[in-house]
Amino acid sequence: MRILVTGGAGFIGSNFVHYLLNQHEDDEVITLDALTYAGSKDNLASVLDDSRHKFVEGDICDRDLVTELVSDVDAIVNFAAESHVDRSIEGAKPFVTTNVQGTQTLLDAANEADIQRFLQISTDEVYGQILDGKFSEDDPLNPRNPYSATKAGADLLAQSFQTTHDLPVIITRTCNNFGPRQHPEKLIPKFIQNAATGENLPVYGDGSNVREWIYVEDNCRALDLVLRKGKVGEIYNIGSHAEKTNLKVTEAILDTVGADDDLIEFVNDRAGHDQRYALETKKIETLGWEPEYSFEEGLERTVNYYLD
Ligand code: NAD
Repeated sequence: MRILVTGGAGFIGSNFVHYLLNQHEDDEVITLDALTYAGSKDNLASVLDDSRHKFVEGDICDRDLVTELVSDVDAIVNFAAESHVDRSIEGAKPFVTTNVQGTQTLLDAANEADIQRFLQISTDEVYGQILDGKFSEDDPLNPRNPYSATKAGADLLAQSFQTTHDLPVIITRTCNNFGPRQHPEKLIPKFIQNAATGENLPVYGDGSNVREWIYVEDNCRALDLVLRKGKVGEIYNIGSHAEKTNLKVTEAILDTVGADDDLIEFVNDRAGHDQRYALETKKIETLGWEPEYSFEEGLERTVNYYLD
């Protein structure tokens, strides 16, 4: 397969590029990334000279560039996004531009090319919060912050291209990822860094917000499976069922790093902070997927990676 991976210099995208090149010796990968503050070529250092991989610095909103790249691939996997909720609360504009208009640009270009798969990478956040039970793929979208609103917009656009233009779109919605190569603005890498340097770990509110955590390699395996075996027009939730309050995650990090609980600092809660996300995952399980790493195993690997 020849695959265009957008946002491939970011956290999950770079892990996915490595996964593809390691697992599929016949795959060829083009990474398209604008190298915003969140992306870095360092994340791809070991594959920059790989003959099966080409890195292109550019924007998914650049229609001419996207058209040129799309003409040469079988599949598009769209990770490119503004991804940090706190930044979207400060200013939503770049989120609308990249997450919505960027996705629309890719869809337009794909629609005029001979694409076998368009995998739109989405998030559990598009469903909004759920206090009891779990979200299934049929549940309505109820995004509650600007980041998730733009991701929901992108999902709906992608679905509409499938129904109106017959574009072979599949959407995945994954819970919170953690692992190597994540930007240090995000909770787990930031808290590992702070714990290791003796700085406070700022926990929002009372730390009771619940997230479901998946080790990034498990997500990459699921995305690869959906790309090859998923059914066009479907949405696949990808979740680990490893639900943790933010306080429990913080305590686990302090424990794994070997730092003191005194470093926990409760700070003003995020505006509109969703209380809990949780995904039902029967559909992806029918493809033969389940997570391999427990939260604790993944965290130990992640802490070792950042401390190294
Ligand atoms: P990230 O912020 O680490 O990476 C995003 C990448 O996109 C960066 O390399 C950035 O340079 C690039 N980018 C941004 N704007 C671009 C543009 N206009 N053109 C080209 N490239 C651009 O994000 P991540 O955490 O790796 O998330 C990747 C995708 O997965 C996103 O779509 C996100 O919504 C989704 N997702 C993330 C999580 C998570 O826990 N991190 C969970 C579910 C879904």
